[in-house]
Amino acid sequence: MQNSEIRNLKVAVIGGGFGGAAATVFLDKLGADVHLYEQAPATGEVGAGIGMRPPTVEAFRAWGIFDAMASVSSASDYFEILTGAGEPILREEWPKKHEYAQENKTRLIHRADFIDTFINHIPAERLHLGHKMVSVTDHGDSATVTFDNGREVTADLVISAEGIRSTVRAQLFADVQPVFAHAHAHRAVISADDTYGMVTDDNFRMYQGDNGSLVYFLPLRHRNQVSFDITAPSDDDSWRPDVTVDQIAGLLDGFDERLQRIARNLDPAAVTSRGVYDIDPIDTWHSDSVVLIGDAAHAMLHHQGQGANQTVQDSSALAEALQESDSVQSALALYQSRRKPTTDALQRVSREEWDSKEGLKTAFPEKASID
Ligand SMILES: Cc1cc2nc3c(=O)[nH]c(=O)nc-3n(C[C@H](O)[C@H](O)[C@H](O)COP(=O)(O)OP(=O)(O)OC[C@H]3O[C@@H](n4cnc5c(N)ncnc54)[C@H](O)[C@@H]3O)c2cc1C
Repeated sequence: MQNSEIRNLKVAVIGGGFGGAAATVFLDKLGADVHLYEQAPATGEVGAGIGMRPPTVEAFRAWGIFDAMASVSSASDYFEILTGAGEPILREEWPKKHEYAQENKTRLIHRADFIDTFINHIPAERLHLGHKMVSVTDHGDSATVTFDNGREVTADLVISAEGIRSTVRAQLFADVQPVFAHAHAHRAVISADDTYGMVTDDNFRMYQGDNGSLVYFLPLRHRNQVSFDITAPSDDDSWRPDVTVDQIAGLLDGFDERLQRIARNLDPAAVTSRGVYDIDPIDTWHSDSVVLIGDAAHAMLHHQGQGANQTVQDSSALAEALQESDSVQSALALYQSRRKPTTDALQRVSREEWDSKEGLKTAFPEKASID
């Protein structure tokens, strides 16, 4: 589409998580008339860290927000997998680090800084909090969304970024239900001073216990903090399980004594516990004027650390497809054709168990399946 056509394009983005916020920033930079609608009264994120992979970092460069993201993150060279007791199994450089004009290291960031950086790039008049979308209708060359506050908005393009429990996906595309992975994730951000010297560099580590528990240990040295995530098997399918710190610490029996002490010392008020869910791949992400991005389209388990990364890469690919195509409809088809093979593969690989110490050949099993 010509720049003048994009400037006349009215876009409604539903959901102010990483995907919706990124799409709003990128389309605003293209000059589109884009507005973001979020159900919550404020944007925010749980206390946890995330690794922004090299392709995501490249998208930040392309859309002019690299410096802002870099100022609130640390650059990491590799991912290391160890036994629960701390014996190294393998370490591997982040894939694609050297595939760009400039070296793109993975950047470790607090989720709150990640969302705030996007939101800070959205003009205030384009951000609408307290807007819970309840229905969507595609008219062909436009779509109308209604909100629970009675407001109705018609746009040339509606982007659904409402996450794993997307209403738009259920109403227009596929009535798939989230699939429980029989696991809980317990996450907290703690001071690096309380880690018994375990923070020695900016690299992400995973400790793999014999009892099925995993510890994801993600330093945020620019904050003097660490994101500490225990993922462990459970048959309790609550979205927000009620678990005590003693129960969480018990998941690390046999682990490095320092990890056990960190778990025992967790502040219950700072711990977020969640049931772990994904969805099965769905066939179609778009109609004429409505499109899914992020978890709404392809929620995946967190074991490959890819969900938020793919969400941002979707937003970037969608903005690029609008620039390259001659209509919204053809842009949506182009976007899906470019993105879906990758996310289908990641959904599949993310469901696979980590191989045991002896069988583990790579820290990035997705490399065999995606470009
Ligand atoms: C334990 C755990 C660890 C993870 N670790 C990583 C990691 O290391 N790396 C990584 O890349 N990914 C990770 N992920 C995945 C990542 O968190 C998700 O993929 C990502 O948050 C998806 O972003 P999203 O914008 O698509 O959806 P969400 O973040 O779910 O945002 C959806 C937004 O839409 C809003 N909304 C919903 N319904 C409506 C409605 N009807 N109207 C208006 N607004 C609505 C919600 O309030 C929310 O703000 C992890 C996930 C989990 C559970």
